Amino acid sequence: MSNRVFCPVCLVSFIIKYPLKGKDTVLCPVCGAKLEITAVSPEITARRFPQAPEAEIRERAENFARLRDYVFNEDKDSVIEGLLQKNEAHGDFFCPCKFDNIPENICPCLETRRNRVIKEGMCF
Ligand SMILES: [Zn+2]
Repeated sequence: MSNRVFCPVCLVSFIIKYPLKGKDTVLCPVCGAKLEITAVSPEITARRFPQAPEAEIRERAENFARLRDYVFNEDKDSVIEGLLQKNEAHGDFFCPCKFDNIPENICPCLETRRNRVIKEGMCF
């Protein structure tokens, strides 16, 4: 049995190092998304944990920051508000600071997942 989980948010697979029961909730170590395991055999499948949009994006942002040891600046609430507006208008949490509503701009965007904060001091 494979122990790989595919994250439907950041489109990356990661390894689960402990046995799953089939009703587990896991955190994507790449983007911080909270995922609900929907099957464990023949392969592990996961979906976004069903929750209200604001809870989902706040939790994801906080998980991502904790995973990377980042801290929020004073713009946090306005960025969350922008993410909620993008989700409402375009169906996902695309970065409100970027024009293109494409998968690589889903928060945390690919650039940020690839250590932009370390290089530039902040996310886009
Ligand atoms: Zn992910």
